[in-house]
Amino acid sequence: MKRIVLIALALLLSGQAQASRIKPRKPKNIILMIGDGTGLVHLYAAYTALGGHLNIYSFAEAIGLSITSSSDDYITDSAAGATAFSTGQKTKNGMIGMGPDTIAIETISELAFRKGKSTGAVVTCELPHATPASFYSHQPSRKMYPEIVADLTKNKAASMLIGGGLPYFDTVALRKAGYSVSIGLAAMQNNNGSRQVCFIDTLKEPLPAPLRGPSLVQGCGHAIKQLSKNKKGFFLMVEGSQIDWGAHNNDSAHTIAEAIDFDQAAGEVLRWAKQDKNTLVIITADHECGGLTLHGYDAINHRPVMHFSSGHHTAEPVPVYAFGPGSETFSGVYQNTAIYHKMVKLLGL
Ligand SMILES: [Zn+2]
Repeated sequence: MKRIVLIALALLLSGQAQASRIKPRKPKNIILMIGDGTGLVHLYAAYTALGGHLNIYSFAEAIGLSITSSSDDYITDSAAGATAFSTGQKTKNGMIGMGPDTIAIETISELAFRKGKSTGAVVTCELPHATPASFYSHQPSRKMYPEIVADLTKNKAASMLIGGGLPYFDTVALRKAGYSVSIGLAAMQNNNGSRQVCFIDTLKEPLPAPLRGPSLVQGCGHAIKQLSKNKKGFFLMVEGSQIDWGAHNNDSAHTIAEAIDFDQAAGEVLRWAKQDKNTLVIITADHECGGLTLHGYDAINHRPVMHFSSGHHTAEPVPVYAFGPGSETFSGVYQNTAIYHKMVKLLGL
């Protein structure tokens, strides 16, 4: 009798284990956070500079590795990198929201919007830059700013765009297209439009951290507050855009300041997601930049001794940190395009 009970119990437990493997918990919302050019080491440099703390490390429930190559190059750029996340397809470097054949592909933001969700992007670069553009625009070159701006202006899928690049836009056309436009962080807090473009400043290229102010942290808070009003849920893309710029310039201080800024935004997002319980947060990068290694600890400046082996992107796989319902599906080693497919499946799009 005891034996039968034990066997039954073992079967039940293995059945449960199998069921949990087959059926991950489903989130209502997904927040995809992209640290541009942010490899394993960039975040560890920030962790070191912060005295051994990082929100991303504290919250991560599952960690995976993403292989970042593009369709035509061992080393991706940000356009093909972001398009892999937004469409699930590898494309050529420089291309935005389309495959190598130049045929536009519906992005996850457009798909989520079609299924009734709200969507948005919060970035620390100008809004027509490659990463945000790849979620709302379809162009053969990331350099086609006028065409990308036109796409962003007319794309109904975007309900919340927060970033820089005001001089590229016609605010009259944005308002005509249904956006409530604000300029500056104080004005953003008072922007209550159902569809918003919030410029963080009046510059073409936003300032570096810490001169920029807390636009990423406050932008994330504002976007979540507005997007979470939709009962059907939301998809939000957040980019720490300038970690990459610091690494391109082999500028240790800028790289660390941007990585810390990104982690503070992640803290804002993760603390909210923990309370919400229905939100999956994925934190990853489009590629590594700078071939960064750490050679010791600089006790005077309280930061690691950083060595950049390159002024460009590198091929190394980048970490994927996941938190919340469905996070377990992000363990393992996979192509960057798999992140799109996992997100679409988990949201049931
Ligand atoms: Zn770059």
